Amino acid sequence: MSRLAMKQKRSRKEKLKRAGWDEYFMNVAKVVSSRSTCDRKFVGALVMRDKTILSTGYNGSVRKLEHCSEIGHIMENGHCVATIHAEANAIIQAAKNGVCIDGATIYTTASPCWSCFKLIANSGIKRICFGEFYRDERIFEIAGKLGIELVKLSVAGGKTQ
Ligand SMILES: [Zn+2]
Ligand SMILES: [Zn+2]
Repeated sequence: MSRLAMKQKRSRKEKLKRAGWDEYFMNVAKVVSSRSTCDRKFVGALVMRDKTILSTGYNGSVRKLEHCSEIGHIMENGHCVATIHAEANAIIQAAKNGVCIDGATIYTTASPCWSCFKLIANSGIKRICFGEFYRDERIFEIAGKLGIELVKLSVAGGKTQ
């Protein structure tokens, strides 16, 4: 094979590199976050089991209410409380549609706040993959206690820890 042909073959292979599962689901969660309606923070979440997406959620106002990015945030202790968080909305979407998420994995672009962490724990989700760290250190200790795997993924979706 000529040197040029080898080079072409290699570059085609590089282009065809498939995303790993973690990378794939985190990328979808990132796309989901683009629907967020609170511009203070865009967060997306996705619940999956057996490599199948069960539900998704992004942080946004209560259904049928105005978006806080348009009418103003409702601030409490430095946080906007107008919205339902992405992870909560993903769990709600599953409930609304009658989808079992017991034993599932959640991908979220930011680590769960304490309230969302509690919802995740009681919903039976067993693995939490998050992008950036957000706000609450307690989740690490309690996740360990509950046997929930917490995995930090890099922006590209690969494991960093
Ligand atoms: Zn807001
Ligand atoms: Zn939350």
